Amino acid sequence: MRCKTAEHYISLKLDHELKPKQETKLRQHLESCISCKALHQDYARMQTGLQQLPVPECPPQLHHLVMSNLPKRNRNAELRRFRLSLAAASLSIVLSIGAGTLVGLKGYESTDMLNDYAAEEVIDQPLFGENSLMVVSYDD
Ligand SMILES: [Zn+2]
Repeated sequence: MRCKTAEHYISLKLDHELKPKQETKLRQHLESCISCKALHQDYARMQTGLQQLPVPECPPQLHHLVMSNLPKRNRNAELRRFRLSLAAASLSIVLSIGAGTLVGLKGYESTDMLNDYAAEEVIDQPLFGENSLMVVSYDD
């Protein structure tokens, strides 16, 4: 067993959550590892010391006092913030659509100009596919 695992097992043991098989492995490790044995003793001493501390007296309305002194949640401000973020998101979507439309219109105009220019000249080049077909003769 590694010391890291032993440390985890020591913590489980002090919380009474260690399984018998794990406890056997831990006991074997503690017999051979001085540092983990010291750690186990320190943790056990600390737990005993904490258990011996007196339980503090709390006023019966402590929970109510704490809760009443917490800052109040401002629902209106949260709602305002949500609406503002929603408006910002909507605005960005609208602006994106507008910008995309403008870019598309500009692109369409430039292709129109190309078409006008091309219509003025006679195109000698064959259309797509006319010279890409292979002539196959089956007479052989
Ligand atoms: Zn160890």
